[in-house]
Amino acid sequence: RCLKLNSVSRVCSAPVEGDGTQTIRLLQWNILSQTLGQHNDGFVRCPEEALTWQHRKYLIVQEILQNQPDVICLQEVDHFKFLQTVLGSQNYAGIFFPKPDSPCLYIEQNNGPDGCAIFYKRDKFQLMGYDTRILEVWRVQSNQVAIATRLRIKSSGQEFCVCTTHLKARHGALLAKLRNEQGRDLIRFVKQFAGESPLLLCGDFNAEPIEPIYATILNCDLMKLGSAYADMKMDREKILEPCDDANEWVSQSIKREPPYTTWKIREEGEVCHTIDYVFYTPEQLKIKNCLAFPDGEEIGKNRTPSYQYPSDHFSLVCDFELINDNVDGA
Ligand code: NDP
Ligand code: CA
Repeated sequence: RCLKLNSVSRVCSAPVEGDGTQTIRLLQWNILSQTLGQHNDGFVRCPEEALTWQHRKYLIVQEILQNQPDVICLQEVDHFKFLQTVLGSQNYAGIFFPKPDSPCLYIEQNNGPDGCAIFYKRDKFQLMGYDTRILEVWRVQSNQVAIATRLRIKSSGQEFCVCTTHLKARHGALLAKLRNEQGRDLIRFVKQFAGESPLLLCGDFNAEPIEPIYATILNCDLMKLGSAYADMKMDREKILEPCDDANEWVSQSIKREPPYTTWKIREEGEVCHTIDYVFYTPEQLKIKNCLAFPDGEEIGKNRTPSYQYPSDHFSLVCDFELINDNVDGA
Protein backbone atom coordinates (compact mmCIF):
# COMPACT_ATOMS: atom_id res chain seq x y z
CA ARG A 1 0.00 0.00 0.00
CA CYS A 2 1.23 3.41 -0.95
CA LEU A 3 2.09 5.37 2.14
CA LYS A 4 1.01 8.95 1.88
CA LEU A 5 0.77 11.23 4.83
CA ASN A 6 -1.07 14.47 4.21
CA SER A 7 -0.91 13.71 0.48
CA VAL A 8 2.87 13.93 0.52
CA SER A 9 4.38 10.64 -0.53
CA ARG A 10 6.95 9.59 2.05
CA VAL A 11 7.85 6.63 4.17
CA CYS A 12 5.49 6.67 7.07
CA SER A 13 8.11 5.51 9.53
CA ALA A 14 9.90 8.86 9.06
CA PRO A 15 10.35 10.58 12.43
CA VAL A 16 7.49 12.83 13.52
CA GLU A 17 8.14 16.52 14.15
CA GLY A 18 10.06 17.47 17.29
CA ASP A 19 11.15 14.81 19.76
CA GLY A 20 7.85 12.94 19.45
CA THR A 21 7.04 13.21 23.15
CA GLN A 22 3.89 15.25 22.48
CA THR A 23 2.76 13.31 19.44
CA ILE A 24 0.65 10.19 19.23
CA ARG A 25 0.37 8.14 16.05
CA LEU A 26 -2.77 6.01 16.13
CA LEU A 27 -3.55 3.17 13.73
CA GLN A 28 -7.20 2.10 13.56
CA TRP A 29 -8.00 -1.04 11.55
CA ASN A 30 -10.63 -3.73 11.13
CA ILE A 31 -8.19 -6.46 10.10
CA LEU A 32 -10.93 -8.91 8.96
CA SER A 33 -11.47 -11.99 11.10
CA GLN A 34 -9.71 -15.01 9.61
CA THR A 35 -12.70 -17.28 10.23
CA LEU A 36 -15.31 -14.85 8.90
CA GLY A 37 -13.22 -13.72 5.93
CA GLN A 38 -12.50 -17.25 4.79
CA HIS A 39 -15.83 -18.92 5.53
CA ASN A 40 -18.57 -16.35 5.93
CA ASP A 41 -18.05 -13.06 4.14
CA GLY A 42 -18.50 -14.19 0.55
CA PHE A 43 -15.76 -12.12 -1.06
CA VAL A 44 -16.48 -13.56 -4.49
CA ARG A 45 -13.67 -11.72 -6.31
CA CYS A 46 -10.89 -12.61 -3.89
CA PRO A 47 -8.71 -15.64 -4.75
CA GLU A 48 -9.00 -18.34 -2.08
CA GLU A 49 -5.28 -18.41 -1.45
CA ALA A 50 -5.21 -14.69 -0.70
CA LEU A 51 -7.68 -15.35 2.11
CA THR A 52 -5.54 -17.93 3.90
CA TRP A 53 -4.04 -16.96 7.24
CA GLN A 54 -0.66 -18.06 5.96
CA HIS A 55 -0.87 -15.32 3.33
CA ARG A 56 -2.67 -12.63 5.33
CA LYS A 57 -0.76 -12.69 8.60
CA TYR A 58 2.47 -11.23 7.18
CA LEU A 59 0.62 -8.50 5.30
CA ILE A 60 -1.27 -7.50 8.45
CA VAL A 61 1.89 -7.32 10.55
CA GLN A 62 3.78 -5.52 7.77
CA GLU A 63 1.10 -2.86 7.36
CA ILE A 64 1.01 -2.23 11.10
CA LEU A 65 4.76 -2.13 11.65
CA GLN A 66 5.70 -0.05 8.64
CA ASN A 67 3.49 2.72 9.95
CA GLN A 68 5.23 2.68 13.35
CA PRO A 69 2.06 3.56 15.30
CA ASP A 70 2.26 4.42 19.00
CA VAL A 71 -1.19 2.95 19.60
CA ILE A 72 -2.92 0.25 17.54
CA CYS A 73 -6.70 -0.29 17.69
CA LEU A 74 -7.96 -3.40 15.94
CA GLN A 75 -11.32 -5.08 15.32
CA GLU A 76 -12.20 -8.61 14.19
CA VAL A 77 -9.12 -9.97 15.94
CA ASP A 78 -9.31 -13.77 16.12
CA HIS A 79 -5.56 -14.41 16.28
CA PHE A 80 -4.69 -12.29 19.30
CA LYS A 81 -1.95 -14.65 20.55
CA PHE A 82 -0.14 -14.43 17.22
CA LEU A 83 -0.32 -10.62 17.20
CA GLN A 84 0.70 -10.44 20.83
CA THR A 85 3.77 -12.57 20.11
CA VAL A 86 4.85 -10.71 16.98
CA LEU A 87 4.00 -7.19 18.15
CA GLY A 88 5.33 -8.11 21.60
CA SER A 89 8.76 -8.63 20.04
CA GLN A 90 8.50 -5.14 18.53
CA ASN A 91 7.95 -3.18 21.74
CA TYR A 92 4.12 -3.41 21.93
CA ALA A 93 1.89 -4.68 24.73
CA GLY A 94 -1.75 -5.46 24.07
CA ILE A 95 -5.22 -6.06 25.52
CA PHE A 96 -7.90 -8.19 23.91
CA PHE A 97 -11.63 -8.36 24.63
CA PRO A 98 -13.74 -10.88 22.67
CA LYS A 99 -17.38 -10.53 21.63
CA PRO A 100 -19.54 -12.56 24.03
CA ASP A 101 -21.20 -14.56 21.23
CA SER A 102 -18.80 -14.14 18.34
CA PRO A 103 -20.16 -15.31 14.97
CA CYS A 104 -16.79 -17.08 14.47
CA LEU A 105 -17.80 -19.68 17.02
CA TYR A 106 -20.61 -20.91 14.74
CA ILE A 107 -18.14 -21.75 12.00
CA GLU A 108 -16.45 -25.15 12.23
CA GLN A 109 -12.82 -24.22 11.56
CA ASN A 110 -12.70 -21.27 13.93
CA ASN A 111 -9.74 -19.98 15.88
CA GLY A 112 -11.80 -18.74 18.82
CA PRO A 113 -14.03 -15.67 19.11
CA ASP A 114 -13.23 -12.38 17.39
CA GLY A 115 -12.97 -9.17 19.33
CA CYS A 116 -11.30 -5.80 19.75
CA ALA A 117 -7.66 -5.25 20.70
CA ILE A 118 -5.52 -2.29 21.73
CA PHE A 119 -1.72 -2.37 21.57
CA TYR A 120 0.59 0.43 22.74
CA LYS A 121 4.33 1.07 22.66
CA ARG A 122 5.78 -0.18 25.92
CA ASP A 123 8.79 2.11 25.95
CA LYS A 124 6.76 5.29 25.32
CA PHE A 125 3.72 4.63 27.52
CA GLN A 126 2.77 3.23 30.89
CA LEU A 127 -0.64 1.58 31.07
CA MET A 128 -2.43 3.30 33.96
CA GLY A 129 -5.60 1.26 33.70
CA TYR A 130 -8.16 -0.18 31.34
CA ASP A 131 -11.79 -1.22 31.24
CA THR A 132 -13.91 -3.32 28.92
CA ARG A 133 -17.60 -3.15 28.13
CA ILE A 134 -20.26 -5.24 26.51
CA LEU A 135 -22.33 -2.45 24.97
CA GLU A 136 -25.93 -2.23 26.10
CA VAL A 137 -28.97 -1.45 24.00
CA TRP A 138 -32.05 -0.42 25.95
CA ARG A 139 -30.25 -1.77 29.05
CA VAL A 140 -29.75 -5.21 27.55
CA GLN A 141 -26.27 -6.47 26.68
CA SER A 142 -25.58 -6.71 22.96
CA ASN A 143 -22.92 -8.75 21.17
CA GLN A 144 -20.68 -5.72 20.61
CA VAL A 145 -17.79 -4.65 22.83
CA ALA A 146 -15.43 -1.80 23.63
CA ILE A 147 -12.02 -1.46 25.32
CA ALA A 148 -10.83 1.73 27.01
CA THR A 149 -7.23 2.33 28.13
CA ARG A 150 -5.51 5.11 30.04
CA LEU A 151 -1.93 5.71 28.91
CA ARG A 152 0.77 7.90 30.47
CA ILE A 153 3.56 9.28 28.33
CA LYS A 154 6.63 8.28 30.30
CA SER A 155 8.74 11.29 29.28
CA SER A 156 6.18 13.99 30.13
CA GLY A 157 3.80 12.39 32.60
CA GLN A 158 0.88 13.42 30.39
CA GLU A 159 -2.07 11.06 30.31
CA PHE A 160 -4.68 10.36 27.66
CA CYS A 161 -7.29 7.69 26.95
CA VAL A 162 -7.86 5.47 23.93
CA CYS A 163 -11.08 3.56 23.34
CA THR A 164 -11.99 1.23 20.51
CA THR A 165 -15.14 -0.58 19.42
CA HIS A 166 -16.81 -2.59 16.65
CA LEU A 167 -20.52 -1.88 16.37
CA LYS A 168 -23.31 -4.09 15.01
CA ALA A 169 -23.15 -4.71 11.25
CA ARG A 170 -25.89 -4.89 8.60
CA HIS A 171 -28.35 -2.47 6.99
CA GLY A 172 -31.82 -1.31 7.90
CA ALA A 173 -33.52 1.40 9.92
CA LEU A 174 -33.84 -0.76 13.04
CA LEU A 175 -30.15 -1.65 12.94
CA ALA A 176 -29.21 2.00 12.50
CA LYS A 177 -31.30 2.72 15.61
CA LEU A 178 -29.58 -0.11 17.47
CA ARG A 179 -26.15 1.24 16.50
CA ASN A 180 -27.21 4.66 17.74
CA GLU A 181 -28.10 3.13 21.10
CA GLN A 182 -24.75 1.33 21.18
CA GLY A 183 -23.11 4.69 20.45
CA ARG A 184 -24.96 6.32 23.37
CA ASP A 185 -23.82 3.55 25.71
CA LEU A 186 -20.28 3.80 24.33
CA ILE A 187 -20.15 7.53 25.05
CA ARG A 188 -21.40 7.03 28.62
CA PHE A 189 -18.81 4.29 29.18
CA VAL A 190 -15.92 6.23 27.76
CA LYS A 191 -16.82 9.48 29.51
CA GLN A 192 -16.96 7.69 32.84
CA PHE A 193 -13.57 6.12 32.13
CA ALA A 194 -11.75 9.13 30.66
CA GLY A 195 -13.23 12.00 32.68
CA GLU A 196 -11.59 15.22 31.46
CA SER A 197 -8.55 13.50 29.91
CA PRO A 198 -7.73 13.81 26.20
CA LEU A 199 -9.52 11.04 24.34
CA LEU A 200 -9.15 9.06 21.10
CA LEU A 201 -12.27 7.04 20.29
CA CYS A 202 -11.99 4.90 17.21
CA GLY A 203 -13.34 1.81 15.56
CA ASP A 204 -15.51 0.18 12.96
CA PHE A 205 -18.84 1.86 13.68
CA ASN A 206 -20.56 0.07 10.78
CA ALA A 207 -22.39 3.33 10.10
CA GLU A 208 -22.04 5.81 7.28
CA PRO A 209 -21.74 9.43 8.42
CA ILE A 210 -25.40 10.12 7.60
CA GLU A 211 -26.55 7.59 10.20
CA PRO A 212 -27.87 8.99 13.52
CA ILE A 213 -24.89 7.67 15.52
CA TYR A 214 -22.49 10.06 13.77
CA ALA A 215 -24.44 13.08 15.01
CA THR A 216 -24.91 11.42 18.40
CA ILE A 217 -21.13 11.28 18.80
CA LEU A 218 -20.38 14.75 17.41
CA ASN A 219 -23.25 16.44 19.28
CA CYS A 220 -22.94 14.62 22.57
CA ASP A 221 -23.43 16.73 25.71
CA LEU A 222 -20.84 14.86 27.76
CA MET A 223 -17.82 15.93 25.71
CA LYS A 224 -16.79 17.75 22.56
CA LEU A 225 -15.60 15.34 19.88
CA GLY A 226 -14.44 15.79 16.29
CA SER A 227 -13.68 13.32 13.53
CA ALA A 228 -9.97 13.27 12.66
CA TYR A 229 -10.16 12.62 8.92
CA ALA A 230 -12.89 15.24 8.47
CA ASP A 231 -11.09 17.86 10.59
CA MET A 232 -7.77 17.31 8.83
CA LYS A 233 -8.84 19.77 6.13
CA MET A 234 -10.08 22.39 8.62
CA ASP A 235 -8.49 25.38 10.35
CA ARG A 236 -8.07 24.67 14.03
CA GLU A 237 -9.75 27.98 14.94
CA LYS A 238 -12.83 26.89 13.04
CA ILE A 239 -12.90 23.52 14.80
CA LEU A 240 -12.77 25.15 18.22
CA GLU A 241 -15.19 28.02 17.47
CA PRO A 242 -18.35 27.78 19.57
CA CYS A 243 -21.07 26.63 17.21
CA ASP A 244 -24.60 28.09 17.22
CA ASP A 245 -26.01 25.40 14.99
CA ALA A 246 -24.86 21.92 16.00
CA ASN A 247 -26.69 20.25 13.14
CA GLU A 248 -24.95 22.48 10.62
CA TRP A 249 -21.59 21.59 12.18
CA VAL A 250 -22.39 17.87 11.84
CA SER A 251 -23.50 18.20 8.22
CA GLN A 252 -20.26 20.06 7.36
CA SER A 253 -18.24 17.32 9.05
CA ILE A 254 -20.14 14.63 7.11
CA LYS A 255 -19.13 16.30 3.86
CA ARG A 256 -15.46 16.24 4.80
CA GLU A 257 -15.28 12.54 5.61
CA PRO A 258 -13.31 10.40 3.15
CA PRO A 259 -15.33 8.67 0.39
CA TYR A 260 -14.59 5.16 1.69
CA THR A 261 -12.84 3.20 4.41
CA THR A 262 -13.92 -0.20 3.08
CA TRP A 263 -14.30 -1.42 -0.50
CA LYS A 264 -15.30 -4.97 -1.35
CA ILE A 265 -17.33 -7.08 -3.75
CA ARG A 266 -19.86 -9.61 -2.48
CA GLU A 267 -22.35 -11.63 -4.53
CA GLU A 268 -24.89 -8.81 -4.13
CA GLY A 269 -22.41 -6.34 -5.62
CA GLU A 270 -19.87 -3.71 -4.74
CA VAL A 271 -19.78 -2.15 -1.26
CA CYS A 272 -17.76 1.05 -0.98
CA HIS A 273 -18.45 3.31 1.97
CA THR A 274 -17.14 5.11 5.06
CA ILE A 275 -17.84 3.30 8.32
CA ASP A 276 -14.54 3.51 10.26
CA TYR A 277 -13.62 6.63 12.25
CA VAL A 278 -11.13 8.18 14.61
CA PHE A 279 -12.92 10.62 16.91
CA TYR A 280 -10.92 12.86 19.26
CA THR A 281 -11.29 15.70 21.75
CA PRO A 282 -10.15 18.73 19.69
CA GLU A 283 -9.69 20.99 22.71
CA GLN A 284 -6.87 18.77 23.91
CA LEU A 285 -5.54 17.15 20.74
CA LYS A 286 -4.53 18.63 17.42
CA ILE A 287 -4.83 16.48 14.29
CA LYS A 288 -1.59 16.85 12.33
CA ASN A 289 -1.71 14.17 9.63
CA CYS A 290 -3.95 11.46 8.23
CA LEU A 291 -2.80 8.62 6.01
CA ALA A 292 -4.51 8.86 2.64
CA PHE A 293 -6.35 5.87 1.18
CA PRO A 294 -5.28 4.24 -2.06
CA ASP A 295 -7.43 5.22 -5.07
CA GLY A 296 -9.60 2.84 -7.08
CA GLU A 297 -6.87 2.11 -9.58
CA GLU A 298 -4.30 1.25 -6.94
CA ILE A 299 -6.82 -0.97 -5.16
CA GLY A 300 -7.57 -2.88 -8.37
CA LYS A 301 -10.81 -3.90 -10.07
CA ASN A 302 -11.46 -6.85 -7.74
CA ARG A 303 -11.25 -4.48 -4.78
CA THR A 304 -10.39 -5.95 -1.35
CA PRO A 305 -9.41 -8.28 0.20
CA SER A 306 -6.80 -9.30 -2.35
CA TYR A 307 -3.21 -10.54 -2.60
CA GLN A 308 -2.21 -6.96 -1.87
CA TYR A 309 -4.77 -5.96 0.77
CA PRO A 310 -5.36 -8.48 3.58
CA SER A 311 -8.57 -6.84 4.86
CA ASP A 312 -11.71 -5.39 3.27
CA HIS A 313 -11.15 -2.31 5.47
CA PHE A 314 -8.30 0.18 5.09
CA SER A 315 -6.21 1.22 8.04
CA LEU A 316 -6.71 4.76 9.32
CA VAL A 317 -3.47 6.31 10.56
CA CYS A 318 -3.52 9.66 12.37
CA ASP A 319 -0.84 11.80 13.96
CA PHE A 320 -2.07 13.85 16.92
CA GLU A 321 -0.32 16.43 19.04
CA LEU A 322 -1.25 16.80 22.68
CA ILE A 323 -1.97 20.41 23.57
CA ASN A 324 0.33 21.64 26.31
CA ASP A 325 -2.14 22.94 28.90
CA ASN A 326 -2.97 19.38 29.86
CA VAL A 327 0.44 18.69 31.30
CA ASP A 328 -0.13 18.08 34.96
CA GLY A 329 2.91 18.60 37.06
CA ALA A 330 5.32 17.96 34.20
P1 NDP B 1 -22.80 -8.63 13.14
O1 NDP B 1 -24.09 -8.44 12.44
O2 NDP B 1 -22.29 -7.45 13.86
O3 NDP B 1 -21.74 -9.10 12.08
C1 NDP B 1 -20.76 -10.04 12.34
C2 NDP B 1 -19.72 -9.95 11.28
O4 NDP B 1 -20.26 -10.15 9.99
C3 NDP B 1 -19.04 -8.60 11.29
O5 NDP B 1 -17.70 -8.83 11.56
C4 NDP B 1 -19.32 -8.03 9.92
O6 NDP B 1 -18.21 -7.37 9.37
C5 NDP B 1 -19.67 -9.23 9.08
N1 NDP B 1 -20.59 -8.89 7.97
C6 NDP B 1 -21.22 -7.72 7.72
N2 NDP B 1 -21.98 -7.78 6.63
C7 NDP B 1 -21.82 -9.02 6.15
C8 NDP B 1 -22.34 -9.71 5.01
N3 NDP B 1 -23.17 -9.11 4.17
N4 NDP B 1 -21.96 -10.98 4.82
C9 NDP B 1 -21.11 -11.59 5.65
N5 NDP B 1 -20.60 -11.00 6.76
C10 NDP B 1 -20.95 -9.74 7.00
O7 NDP B 1 -22.92 -9.93 14.07
P2 NDP B 1 -23.09 -10.13 15.64
O8 NDP B 1 -21.81 -9.90 16.33
O9 NDP B 1 -24.28 -9.38 16.14
O10 NDP B 1 -23.35 -11.67 15.73
C11 NDP B 1 -24.50 -12.24 15.25
C12 NDP B 1 -24.08 -13.21 14.22
O11 NDP B 1 -23.65 -14.42 14.82
C13 NDP B 1 -25.24 -13.53 13.34
O12 NDP B 1 -25.23 -12.66 12.23
C14 NDP B 1 -24.97 -14.96 12.96
O13 NDP B 1 -24.27 -15.03 11.75
C15 NDP B 1 -24.07 -15.50 14.04
N6 NDP B 1 -24.80 -16.45 14.81
C16 NDP B 1 -24.90 -17.68 14.27
C17 NDP B 1 -25.61 -18.64 14.89
C18 NDP B 1 -25.67 -19.97 14.27
O14 NDP B 1 -26.17 -20.89 14.84
N7 NDP B 1 -25.12 -20.14 13.07
C19 NDP B 1 -26.29 -18.37 16.17
C20 NDP B 1 -26.11 -17.06 16.68
C21 NDP B 1 -25.37 -16.16 16.01
P3 NDP B 1 -18.09 -5.73 9.30
O15 NDP B 1 -18.27 -5.22 10.66
O16 NDP B 1 -16.73 -5.56 8.72
O17 NDP B 1 -19.17 -5.27 8.36
CA1 CA C 1 -16.01 -7.78 8.54
